[in-house]
Amino acid sequence: MSSTYQNYIGGRFVNDSADGRVEVSNPATQAVLGHVPEASANTVAAAVDAARKAQPAWGRLPAIQRANALRAISAKVRQHRERLAALIVAEQGKTQGLAAVEVDFTADYIDYMAEWARRLEGEVLTSDRPGESIFLLRKPIGVVAGILPWNFPFFLIARKMAPALVTGNTVVIKPSEETPLNAFEFAKLVAETDLPEGVFNLIGGTGAKTGAALTDNPGVDLISFTGSVETGSRIMQTAGKHLTRVNLELGGKAPAIVLADADLDLAAKAITDSRVINTGQVCNCAERVYVDRKVADAFIGKLSLRMAATTFGDPGADASIGMGPLINRAGLDKVRGAVERAVSAGNEVITGGKVADLGQGFHYEPTVLIAKDNDQEIIRKETFGPVLPIVLVDGLEQAVAYANDSEYGLTSSLYTRDLNSALRGVRDLEFGETYVNRENFEAMQGFHAGRRKSGIGGADGKHGLYEYTETQVVYIQHD
Ligand code: NAD
Repeated sequence: MSSTYQNYIGGRFVNDSADGRVEVSNPATQAVLGHVPEASANTVAAAVDAARKAQPAWGRLPAIQRANALRAISAKVRQHRERLAALIVAEQGKTQGLAAVEVDFTADYIDYMAEWARRLEGEVLTSDRPGESIFLLRKPIGVVAGILPWNFPFFLIARKMAPALVTGNTVVIKPSEETPLNAFEFAKLVAETDLPEGVFNLIGGTGAKTGAALTDNPGVDLISFTGSVETGSRIMQTAGKHLTRVNLELGGKAPAIVLADADLDLAAKAITDSRVINTGQVCNCAERVYVDRKVADAFIGKLSLRMAATTFGDPGADASIGMGPLINRAGLDKVRGAVERAVSAGNEVITGGKVADLGQGFHYEPTVLIAKDNDQEIIRKETFGPVLPIVLVDGLEQAVAYANDSEYGLTSSLYTRDLNSALRGVRDLEFGETYVNRENFEAMQGFHAGRRKSGIGGADGKHGLYEYTETQVVYIQHD
């Protein structure tokens, strides 16, 4: 049954006659699931105004009260766990297991950020001048616009909202037009709590219309964006007009390095898991492999077997499959085009390499290719699908040089049994994250931040929390 939703602004569900409508469908069955508004510039302005009005009182509350309000929301999320997970499966195409993990992780993340309430600290600085005290205060920035991608749509609400709210900001969230329904269900749960009106606002819409109006609104103090490099660049240009702060979590092309002394079974399993999770549509997961020539045959054999054995289909119909569909036709065409061009350029497909025709949905076979060299498009551009290109290398130094030679710098991984190689790799890899002997998956207490075109600023942990604060230094003269 398809549902229709309203924007959540100032504590009320409202629509404006100028709002358009966005249709949302299931990428596995193509069935229409519902409609959300495409917020007009007026609606966007109303949401930002509501957030502005609510912010001073919210920011003045003791932080522990803000934390309690967050915990009331996470409790609601846990109560509705199954229903929310099923909706994420339907609109995003995640497997049932991963959707349940996403909902649980979201509730845990909100609680984790709430825990910071009693640990938000300023500093007392030493002065050079007699009779002077210097305090560094941490204050909320104001109104945060959170613009979300579709790949972890539910978790990303929390990743923006929870640190923003606990530090005293208010938010306007715009989910992706591909996967907004879970966010609108989230807003209904927020509405059942005592959160003061205007602290959390949600507006539906496309990037071109609603997202662009939100980023161009001078009432926004921080744009916290997760999505593609292209959109991040566009948002930064718009933000430049008002000198609005930006926090950008963008794309990746994570290298996985497999050295000659690596545990090849562990590496093959971890790299496969890392690539097929969410059908390869994860910013930080292994997208290119550098394997030492000495173990290349053995490793590629193990990896190809695992990739080829990955099952896929409609995740709503079968809980046991390893992968669902790609998010939409454009996503499928992007993967198909990238592999077709790689083949035309003389790169060799080992397994997969084709669209999988299941009668409906946007499925692509799990694919392994051997790339001719590090300059191939399939090695350079984010594919965002279940495709692993492999380059053969001679040792750690060459692998690291190839890995670093990329416009992306989000995550990286390294497989070796030698401590010295591991530490040299960590020293020389120029990435925001490095995983050693395990698949890529960040922790909420870490700091998820990309170098180069993968982003500006970061999320999670103490450092992510402080991205939602600004400082005020106070100089007090006394006897
Ligand atoms: P996208 O850039 O197409 O869209 C992201 C969001 O931006 C959507 O809500 C969209 O409506 C909005 N948007 C589009 N144009 C806009 C504009 N002109 N102004 C304002 N908003 C606009 O990205 P996507 O396809 O939803 O997500 C996939 C991308 O996100 C991949 O590149 C992936 O690597 C990246 N990603 C990064 C991280 C990270 O933490 N670094 C996490 C998840 C996804």
